[in-house]
Parts: sequence; C-alpha cells; structure tokens
Amino acid sequence: SALAQVPPPTTASSSTSRMSSSSKSVELTEITEVRRDPSNNTSTTHKYMKGKMLGKGGFAKVYWVQSLDTNKAYAIKIVPKANLVKSRARQKLQAEIKIHRVLKHRRIVEYKHFFEDRTNCYILLELCHNQSMNELIKRRKRLTEPEVLYYMMQLIDGTTYMHNNNVIHRDLKLGNLFLDRNMGIKIGDLGLATKLTHSNERKRTICGTPNYIAPEIIDGKGGHSFQVDIWSMGVIMYTLLVGKPPYEAKDVKSTYKRILANVYTFPDHVSISEPAKNLIRSMLQSKPELRPTLAEVQSHPFFTGPDVRIPISLPQSSTLEAPRWR
Ligand code: ADP
Repeated sequence: SALAQVPPPTTASSSTSRMSSSSKSVELTEITEVRRDPSNNTSTTHKYMKGKMLGKGGFAKVYWVQSLDTNKAYAIKIVPKANLVKSRARQKLQAEIKIHRVLKHRRIVEYKHFFEDRTNCYILLELCHNQSMNELIKRRKRLTEPEVLYYMMQLIDGTTYMHNNNVIHRDLKLGNLFLDRNMGIKIGDLGLATKLTHSNERKRTICGTPNYIAPEIIDGKGGHSFQVDIWSMGVIMYTLLVGKPPYEAKDVKSTYKRILANVYTFPDHVSISEPAKNLIRSMLQSKPELRPTLAEVQSHPFFTGPDVRIPISLPQSSTLEAPRWR
C-alpha cells in the first residue's frame, strides 16, 4: 500500500459508508478502520462518525470526528490517495507522519494514529476547539501586548522542544498555530518540517511555499537551518501586534523581493512598545546568524523587563474582543 512503511506495529484499513437520510441530502459519513494485529493475526474494527469540515489545506481536508468506541472527539486529516500518485507527494506525507508521530509536547497538536483504506489516508489528531490564530487575528484585527506575550511564550516553548529534537518546522504561521479550548497554542501542520541528522547539518531544498519564508530559503545558496523558525516567529509577532504581515505585497514575487531587501516599517497609527519593536527587529535580521536563539528571545526585555506581566490565562471572550486587564 501507498504508505506501508508508515504505520506503527498495527496496520489498518478502512471502508467508508454513506448513510444519507432519505429526503434531504444530509450526509452522515462513518469511517471504519479495520486494525490488524499481525503478531496474532487478529483484527479489530473501530468506527468514527464524521462531522463538519474544520478546514482544508493543499492535499487534505480536515474534519471533526467522534470515536464511536470512546465518544472522544478528534480532528481527522483525510488525504485522498489520488493526491499521492506522485512519489514526491507520498514522500512528503511519509516524512510529515514520521516526524509528527514522535513529537509529544503540550504546545504541539498531538498525533494520535494513522490508517488508510483504498481511497484515502487518515491521520487522527488532537482536536483544537478554537480554530487557528489566523481566524483570531481576522476577528480581532490585532492583539494587545499582554496577549502577544502570552502567545509568544507558548510558541517559544513548543518550538524549543522541536529544535531540541533537531526538528525545524519551516512553516510557522498564524494558520498553523491552533488554539485549544483553554486558548493555549498548539503548533500543527508539520508538512514542511524536517529532522536534521546532526544539529549543524544545512538543508537546501524545501517543497511547498512557506508563508513567512526567511530570506536564506528564497536565496537558497548557503542552505538554511533552525534560524528560519526564528524569522517566522518575528513575522508572527509583527502580525499579531500590527494586524498584517510585515512584507505583504500585491503578489508572491513582490513579497519575496521585499523579504530579500528586508523592507518593512512599523505603522505610526499603532502603538507598539520599544522592547517589542526591538525584539521583532532582531528576529527579522537578514543574516540568520545574527538572529537571537530561542533562549536569547526568551530572556529579551520584552519578556523580562521590570514592568512585564505575562498573563497565565486568557478568557474565551478574547477570541472576539480585547481582554480588559484589572
Ligand atoms: P495542510 O497540511 O494540507 O495545509 P493543515 O494541517 O494545515 O492541512 O489543516 C488544514 C486546516 O484544517 C487548518 O487550517 C485548520 O482549519 C483545520 N485543522 C487542522 N488540524 C486541526 C486540528 N487539530 N483541530 C482543528 N482544526 C484543524
């Protein structure tokens, strides 16, 4: 099968059946997984009720599902095998699963399980109840500095874990930062992630177009490493405070030009503290070796200044309006 190397000890197959109610075209789809255990030649059946679509990406659609065994809700990423005909696409999915499977951290979307049937591959994931930070910033326009402190701390936490495991995410962006029911960040979509065999290895190629791409990836000559994630974090922090990304332009080509020339400004109409601007400027340096490490980011005055207070939690209402601090 397409991804034979991928699944852990048990292999799986599934069948999808449609139960459409007679008159209306309401479709309830059940996903059936037949989990085989080769060690004793037995198999068990697991059913999931498929609910609404949560979102879609380049290769996959993501749905809300409920396990009929446990009643627990999950997100399921469904990749049609028709999209995996090219070996390059298959390799990409294999790499994503191989990297994601072993990452276990409270700030990373939890990988639960993989299975496949004739038509699709299925990746069962921890469900994030509050969409991604992309939807958050669209509704809120921009966030307050205490909120940015709160989210950046969590982003640093999850990214530090990945880097300590030699994994570079390479596509950190608001759309890949999901929010759980407690408004905590879960880093997701490891589709462009890579694991280095040793920490000073340099990567040369990247398939796909990362949104918040670092100049050394566009340039391509000297390779890239962990610092591309620091760059993206600079873009993320700017976007959260300003309400739009720093290098935005009419098309991708013009954006790349602005990134390579490193042209961006802080708009006058938004008030942003000096430490915040200073930290963004340091993360958005063209030369990767000049960017701070994650440890240096964490000890920057933006986080450690005398008057800084980092919220320990955010209210659910902050998905809609700025929290009022007492
Ligand atoms: P792709 O790798 O194809 O870009 P993503 O992993 O980014 O796919 O998922 C596509 C969309 O599905 C996301 O933008 C989001 O709206 C939704 N989504 C993905 N994972 C989850 C999850 N764990 N919980 C809730 N929604 C999710």
